[in-house]
Amino acid sequence: MEKLESLIQWGIALDEIPPEGISFSFENLSDFDNDLKVIKPFSGHLKIIKRGFEVEVSGHLEGSLEVICDRCLESFEYPIKEDFKVLLIPKASLNIQEEKELSADDLEVSFYENSFISYYEILKEELYLSLPYRILCKEDCKGLCPVCGTNLNKNSCQCAKIKKSSPFAVLKDFLKDKEKISEKGV
Ligand SMILES: [Zn+2]
Ligand SMILES: [Zn+2]
Repeated sequence: MEKLESLIQWGIALDEIPPEGISFSFENLSDFDNDLKVIKPFSGHLKIIKRGFEVEVSGHLEGSLEVICDRCLESFEYPIKEDFKVLLIPKASLNIQEEKELSADDLEVSFYENSFISYYEILKEELYLSLPYRILCKEDCKGLCPVCGTNLNKNSCQCAKIKKSSPFAVLKDFLKDKEKISEKGV
């Protein structure tokens, strides 16, 4: 299993990429980042093609991460199975990137530094990108009760009854009473 120190150096210098490009597969990657908890180690393949200073990377990545539901805060296993394609440009060339953003259809653009293509950085970025903006353990996760903190997927609580007498409900009752009063008044 690859350890983080060796993973960080895992990559290729720009001028070592042969004209025909390189492709290879990998497996059993688990030490990506302290923020990424791997459950099922990642495997996949990468294809690296150099076009001048631009490097096109395509590949496949699959495994699973432990993530935390944004609503109920429970951790759960999130499987990832992604095909990706990213264009790497030198970090110093920001104006080139602006051009790319204008011309590129939906091609993802990222950077490389010091003439080194870091496979580790590419895969780490893809992992982050493959996570949804809002992570939910299930579409209809009921979340936590805002009053007592009970996980409403597992238990129910009494707070929902209090919830019914929300300011709006109270107002409705008040209006009803008022109607009754005015009816009486007639
Ligand atoms: Zn949840
Ligand atoms: Zn509650």
